[in-house]
Amino acid sequence: MIPSSLDDLTERPTGEAMWRGWRQRCPRCGTGRMYGRYLKVNEACASCGLELAGHRADDAPPYFTILIVAHVIVPLMLMLEQHFSPPEWLHMVLWLPLTVLLCLWLLPRIKGVLIGLQWARRMHGFGSEPH
Ligand SMILES: [Zn+2]
Repeated sequence: MIPSSLDDLTERPTGEAMWRGWRQRCPRCGTGRMYGRYLKVNEACASCGLELAGHRADDAPPYFTILIVAHVIVPLMLMLEQHFSPPEWLHMVLWLPLTVLLCLWLLPRIKGVLIGLQWARRMHGFGSEPH
């Protein structure tokens, strides 16, 4: 457990915090789990006690998830169409599940990255002021 007064003075490496968020771990200790369920952020880290409830990820994770998934799926779909011109049902069977699965896989990781960024930059509830 790190006292909050000491935590206010310590360096918070942004890249490491974002990587820990990608791994869905606490941005401060990297040990405690960030989520209790799929996207439900724990109130506090079970390992170091960091209050995680102060994050304000809001709509940013779905925004970045859609942005990334679209930039992966659409070029692949266009390449398949240009080179092989498969029937439409094949596009539906291939791209719809792939899009959904990729979104579901990326969403908690991107949310974790954004929470890690917020913690490292002392944004919102992660600053020195109480939220
Ligand atoms: Zn922790």
